[in-house]
Parts: sequence; C-alpha cells; structure tokens
Amino acid sequence: MSRSESRRLTFWIAVYCLAFTVVLCALYFLFVAVTAPWATHTGRLQTAYIASPVQVIVDAGHGGRDGGATGVTGLVEKNLNLEIATLLHDMLCAAGTKTCMTRTVDSLVCDESDPALRGKLKQTDLKNRAALAEANPGALFVSIHMNNFPVEKYSGLQVYYSPHAEESRVLAASIQANTAALLQPGNTRGIKAAGSNIYLLNRIRTAAVLVECGFLSNRAESACLANGTYRQKLALVLTASVLQNLREPS
Ligand SMILES: [Zn+2]
Repeated sequence: MSRSESRRLTFWIAVYCLAFTVVLCALYFLFVAVTAPWATHTGRLQTAYIASPVQVIVDAGHGGRDGGATGVTGLVEKNLNLEIATLLHDMLCAAGTKTCMTRTVDSLVCDESDPALRGKLKQTDLKNRAALAEANPGALFVSIHMNNFPVEKYSGLQVYYSPHAEESRVLAASIQANTAALLQPGNTRGIKAAGSNIYLLNRIRTAAVLVECGFLSNRAESACLANGTYRQKLALVLTASVLQNLREPS
C-alpha cells in the first residue's frame, strides 16, 4: 500500500468513527428525552389538556353597550355579573375543572364596532353565547345575572333552568338548595323552568341554568352584592353546586 493510499484509508476510518460517535450520541439523547420523568409527565399533561373537553361554560350576562339592570344604589348588572362569573371560573379551574367564559371583558360577545352588526348587536351576542354552548355539548352552561323589580321588597337568589335537558333542572335544584343552606337561610324561592322570554335557555339544548344572583332593586341585597366577601361566598356556593353535578368524563 502506497503512502497516499494509507493516508486516504486513515481519513475514511476517522470519518466513519466520527459518524458512528455522532449517531450513538444522538440515540443516547433521544433515549434520555423520551424516558426522563419530566419529559413523560409534560407530554402526558399536554396530551390530556388537548384531549379534555370543556366541562363548564361560565356566562357573564350583558356587557359593553348592554349594561343590564341598574340597581337602586347605582350598581350596574353587567359589572357584577362579570365579577361573580370570574370568581366562579377561577374557583372551578382551581378545583381542576376545565372551564371557559363567554366573555372576560366589558363587552358584548361580538365586535361592537362592526358596522355590519349595527342594529343587531344584542341578537348576535346571544347567538354567539349559544354557539359556544352548542360547540361544547358535554359542558354545563351557567349564566350569571342580577334580578330587578319595580317593587323593592323582593329579594333572594333564584335559578332558572333549560327545559330541554334533565341535568339543567338537577343543577338548578342544587344551586337553589345550597344557597338556602349556606348563604341565604330565609330564601324559600323555588327553581323555575325558563319560559320563551329567556332566549339562551330556550335555545340551548344541553344542560344550562341561569342564576339571578339577587335583586338590585332591593337595598339590603344590593349592599350584599356590593361586598367582595359576599360575592366570594356566593361564587363558592355556585362552585360547590357545579362540582356536585359535573359529568363523568367520557
Ligand atoms: Zn340580566
């Protein structure tokens, strides 16, 4: 073998050794990445997150240009709805429930500045809320509102339920009973099936309730609803009631 042939052979042996080492290292790092506990855990979490459907939809009534009711003490319904809905959402998430909201800001559930929606903002808003429920047929839909009446003496939380799904009535009964037991001992109100005047509950075919959290027309109840601690207790009662009625993941 000539000297030049010997050099060429040495060169190719070195190249093959280097390539073999690179392949071995790559296989080693791949093995570590796949079998390390953190890698497996992260992978499972991501898969579980992507695969798990929404269990609860929390709907803060009104918003933006639609303030809802204004109470005797000046409380505006849309703001209270969003505060209580956000508390409920956060508590359910903390309990490990996959929860989403129809709105998280002071706006209708549509683009209020879209000229094409002029004159039909409210209609579009309600359709979009219903569409979110229809897109998640396995979820419980909980709509948060405040009551208002021309006579001041009436007070107390009251729950309406969709007449289309039995789960709606059961969830409504839980909320009403837990409220009387834990928050409003004098509340003797009964649950009511929604009439045609409550568009959302009539449109939604899956489990859905609408909680009238209290009367803004009643000074004492308005004072309660204006209190942050009371709102937290109320959200806790709603959270416990929803958790009691969560569907088993299929
Ligand atoms: Zn309302």
